[in-house]
Amino acid sequence: MELILNLRDRIVRGETSVRATVEAAVDAAEKLNETLNAFLEIDREGALNRADKIGAQLSSVTNAGETPSLPSLTGIPIAIKDNICVRGMQTSCGSRILGPYHPPYNATAIDRLLNAGAVVIGKTNCDEFAMGSSNENSAFGPVKNPWDTSRVPGGSSGGSAAAVAAGIVPVALGSDTGGSVRQPASLCGVIGLKPTYGRVSRYGLVAFGSSLDQIGVFARNATDAALILQTISGRDPHDATTADVAVPDYTHELKNDIQGMRIGVSHALLGEGLDEEVRVAIEKAIDAYKDLGAEIVDVDLPHAKYAIAVYYIIATAEASSNLARYDGVRYGFRAEEAPALRDMYRKTRDQGFGAEVKRRIMLGTYVLSAGYYDAYYLKAQKVRMLLRQDFANAFAKCDAVLTPTSPTPAFKFGEKMDDPLAMYLNDIYTVTANLAGVPGISVPCALSSQGLPIGMQLLGPYWSEATLLRLTSAYQTAHSFTARPEIFAG
Ligand code: GLN
Repeated sequence: MELILNLRDRIVRGETSVRATVEAAVDAAEKLNETLNAFLEIDREGALNRADKIGAQLSSVTNAGETPSLPSLTGIPIAIKDNICVRGMQTSCGSRILGPYHPPYNATAIDRLLNAGAVVIGKTNCDEFAMGSSNENSAFGPVKNPWDTSRVPGGSSGGSAAAVAAGIVPVALGSDTGGSVRQPASLCGVIGLKPTYGRVSRYGLVAFGSSLDQIGVFARNATDAALILQTISGRDPHDATTADVAVPDYTHELKNDIQGMRIGVSHALLGEGLDEEVRVAIEKAIDAYKDLGAEIVDVDLPHAKYAIAVYYIIATAEASSNLARYDGVRYGFRAEEAPALRDMYRKTRDQGFGAEVKRRIMLGTYVLSAGYYDAYYLKAQKVRMLLRQDFANAFAKCDAVLTPTSPTPAFKFGEKMDDPLAMYLNDIYTVTANLAGVPGISVPCALSSQGLPIGMQLLGPYWSEATLLRLTSAYQTAHSFTARPEIFAG
């Protein structure tokens, strides 16, 4: 599938129709789903109806002889992670416990995309309640990585990452609580952007860790990511944590000149545990930025080594509270043969949740319990503040910090499933941004010797998405990442 601006131009010029565009995306989604399992629902009928409506509006404008001035995403097919509410479609969160649930409303991000003319073609597979780094925690089977189907696509937004990587849609939404947009983007060779906390409304995003969650964007280039971000960003009365900060025209800010911009590198983050090929790729990316005129400065993030521990205390604490609502009464699934109320709660949660979700509820309940609250939860919140301060100090010296996104390229199915700690360590580079609330982007920068994509991550100060996109655009213009997985839909 082409990039948004090409598609839109061809639609406006009448070289292709909205229906043909949307149908191509739906056809590819259906065909590739047998291999990839990227979608949990594909809404052929709904998507084509909407395409026809938009097509009819378009031809009435064209027939009246006017040059159509169209909303920015007219006729653009998009895929949405199955933990973001879209009216008329299911929301399962990759879990059995929701039934699946059919929400009667749209998430704010979805309303904004629809107002801009986008067409949602389906809901993408993900780790259960967005908990995971490999998609193996989905109750509906894992998504396969389009570059190598014996490997994981990353998680938890693996379905959205795979859908963009495989060329089914130009763009998709995911959610990022500790890296779930950036890490699968890295493993699937696409861009993944997590905005500043409070940039995009969480209304209609099923809560995992409320102080960490943000809806994020998958795309193949900076312009497409910018277009989607500017559509979904901004204050929303339905979400009190959205900030009243003006939304820039991100596409206008995409200049390729980065002369004199400063990029921070923490050499401590490029040591132990990092795959050698990833380290080499990151060093090449640093050189590439030097060649583009950026200045490289040393930064120190002394508390980053505690980030995994802090994240898995805070995220599980918040999850244990957020997931209390799934009790067999309010949403879809209810266990049978449970005569008494307590039994019904217990059995429903036992049968409805998978192993990882249960592990997190137990961990989260433990760290919040009276005897341990100070030792774990309160301590973690204090270290979180220190980490924020680390970033503030770093950003006093640079415009963005460059790190790997993930310590390794895509790993094989089953490789880390028996060792939750090894799986958690995969998030070492991504969780810091959520703890600090700062924005981050993963950009493909190399292929490994086995032909697997490697991503670099750029982190910036609050509200610096325009800077991150500009650095991305400059890099991509100079080093276009043209490799595509074999099953690329075109
Ligand atoms: N992999 C991390 C976790 O399992 C991040 C998940 C996310 O960002 N939703 O919690």
